[in-house]
Amino acid sequence: MHILKFGGTSVGRPERLRKVGDLVLASPGKKVVVLSAFSGTTNALVAIGDHLMADRRDQAAKEIDNLEQHYKTYSSDLFTSSEYKAIGFEIVGRYFSLIRLLSTGRFDDRSYRELLAQGELASTEFFYYHLRERKVDCRLLPALHFMSIDENQEPELDKISERLMALLPSLQQQDVLITQGYICRNHLNEIDNLKRGGSDYTASLIGAAIKAEEIQIWTDIDGMHNNDPRIVKKTVPIASLTFDEASELAYFGAKILHPSTIVPAQKRGVPVRLKNTMDEQAPGTLISDKGSVGQIKAVAAKDGIIVINIKSSRMLLAFGFLRQVFEVFERYKTPIDMISTSEVAVSLTIDDPRQLEPIVAQLQGFGTITVHKNQSIICVVGNMLTERQGVLHEVFTALQNVPIRMVSFGGSLNNISILVDTNAKEQSLKLLNQGLFHLGE
Ligand code: ASP
Ligand code: MG
Repeated sequence: MHILKFGGTSVGRPERLRKVGDLVLASPGKKVVVLSAFSGTTNALVAIGDHLMADRRDQAAKEIDNLEQHYKTYSSDLFTSSEYKAIGFEIVGRYFSLIRLLSTGRFDDRSYRELLAQGELASTEFFYYHLRERKVDCRLLPALHFMSIDENQEPELDKISERLMALLPSLQQQDVLITQGYICRNHLNEIDNLKRGGSDYTASLIGAAIKAEEIQIWTDIDGMHNNDPRIVKKTVPIASLTFDEASELAYFGAKILHPSTIVPAQKRGVPVRLKNTMDEQAPGTLISDKGSVGQIKAVAAKDGIIVINIKSSRMLLAFGFLRQVFEVFERYKTPIDMISTSEVAVSLTIDDPRQLEPIVAQLQGFGTITVHKNQSIICVVGNMLTERQGVLHEVFTALQNVPIRMVSFGGSLNNISILVDTNAKEQSLKLLNQGLFHLGE
């Protein structure tokens, strides 16, 4: 079994949804197709939800009308026969009645999440009827029946697996099963979601849950690239990555993949292939446990980093100091990304600013605290970096004119992290593109 996930842009226009149909039919064997909402839909639903939360009902109503118009046009362009045009008309009517119903009553967090779920519910229904119009025997598999998260918002992989395994025997007939990305149920059995961009995560969870042969994430670029194409002129796709390398890259700014996606796939050893809807012949990127050794694969950058430095003579020859520091971050549920220590100081970075104030207030007790915002982590990813003599030399030679605030290396053999001011990010990525990949700046 293969899992094929298509993102919002891949289904964003009727002709592109038809193309997804072609790709699904061309792909051999049995598959689960995971779809995002049509592009722009989740953003529109968020805007509607925000208006309703703030009691701006008129604005919400206006946005709902606009979105409905968009769906009407989409639907009438998608279906060709009058029979299916009528079905499309009915689908649009049904979703927008529900959305209006949600928007008239008391609007709370729960209604908000139900509202957000409508995008994926609608896109999969459209795709299902599109394939039916093409006489394809397929089935809708409602994600709300098997996808769940616990009270810490963590997906319940074992339960998801049990439920899917129980469902599959009744789905022997069809080669194409269609389900919603992103949406799930929470521990209260309410409708919830896996956070923005979560459809990739859905695909990976399903792939892991049923031990699929392969999870394919179809987007509109040909795999992960060695550098950020928005910043440097020339980038090249990476043919293969290990799970660890891909996780580093997904977290550090390679927007192509939701950062949690790799986790379930890696846990159950299911390879993830990134493919391009616009160019299905392109090899894309294969992420598995068999990446190649001794190579720098890519550089990426992540913005919005805050560095906190704690300078304290109490740290000198003391034990238990770092534990106390870490406990502060734990108390405020704020993950630490990079860390670097000396005998009398420690620097930590975070990317979530929400609890910065109380964290800093509590850290004051440990020593002198300095905070710098607007930092970026430049991350160099590869395999067994230590086996390649001189790799650190190459990196720092390339960056010799860039002021570096912090460096972290050795935690994993996959990554060198370098912290710079965000205004030095572009220059750093360009210099590394030339210095490490010889692709020009
Ligand atoms: N539709 C959701 C979003 O826009 C989930 C996804 O597309 O992955 O965030
Ligand atoms: Mg996405």
